[in-house]
Amino acid sequence: MEEERPHRSGFVAVVGRPNVGKSTLINSLVGSKVSIVTPKPQTTRHRILGIRNEARSQIVFIDTPGLHTDARKAMNRLMNRAADSAIRDADVVLFLVEANRWTTEDTHALKRIAAAGASPVIAVINKIDKVHPKEELLRVIEEMAARFTFAEVVPVSALRKENLDRLVSLLPDYLQESPPFFPETAVSDRNERFRAAELIREKLTLALRQEVPYGLTVQVERFETEAQGLAVAALILVERESQKGIVVGKGGALLKKAGRAVRLELKEQYGMPVHLDLWVKVRDNWADSEEQLLRLGYDQG
Ligand code: GDP
Ligand code: MG
Repeated sequence: MEEERPHRSGFVAVVGRPNVGKSTLINSLVGSKVSIVTPKPQTTRHRILGIRNEARSQIVFIDTPGLHTDARKAMNRLMNRAADSAIRDADVVLFLVEANRWTTEDTHALKRIAAAGASPVIAVINKIDKVHPKEELLRVIEEMAARFTFAEVVPVSALRKENLDRLVSLLPDYLQESPPFFPETAVSDRNERFRAAELIREKLTLALRQEVPYGLTVQVERFETEAQGLAVAALILVERESQKGIVVGKGGALLKKAGRAVRLELKEQYGMPVHLDLWVKVRDNWADSEEQLLRLGYDQG
């Protein structure tokens, strides 16, 4: 009689410098938007779990804020600590890089992974859709393999979902024999309020032409289903009066544009009309106070 394979569960940390595609990869692997994505660095500020459930395994991906070289700001220090703790907690680490770009920030990130530890590291070369001609990829893989004793080197495109099956098929071998850690219907460890706040931050970041890297955070004050639909109220906190003007836009245009995009996505997600209230408020120097950041939920994981 054939023996049934034991169920396996475990944590997979996704680590790399900002903008290599960590959040995109996790969303693609989980099949749902659990982490927000923009073309700008410093988009992911929190440690977020994305959960992939299969018949014989539960893979819990840890999305980390990108590793930062400049640790002078409180926000960067907290983000580096979140990444460090994710690396330590993981059964296997995915070190993500861009196929056509290796920088000193990548070197720094790899050093940090090597210093943290014991878990095997799989190098994931992302954005292979940008590599032409395809033969170039062989050289990129060889160069990568020479940088560290990786358990595997896997080229993928997180955006186009190329070669993700290959990556996923490798992972259960690194997990422990264990029942699932989370309900098998869960895709994330974060609640609706948190995800709504993140969605608002994503749409604002996309609408803003200037970078407001540290200057913006969102608190959802209200998230309720009513007879008329979903009612959401949120506070947008910025650092300076001048940033308030930027976020609101001429005649409120930017806030309106971002708000419309948020409403559309929430309506699609929850299948009901959405009433959204957004306020912008100035908070002094919050990005430089670790205490204030911790109070706002920038946890160390
Ligand atoms: P993170 O900072 O590492 O989490 O990176 P994000 O997931 O936020 O992605 C940063 C940018 O890279 C976004 O504009 C993504 O759309 C883009 N991106 C991610 N994966 C791919 C990919 O496989 N191919 C291409 N061309 N772009 C990608
Ligand atoms: Mg991210």
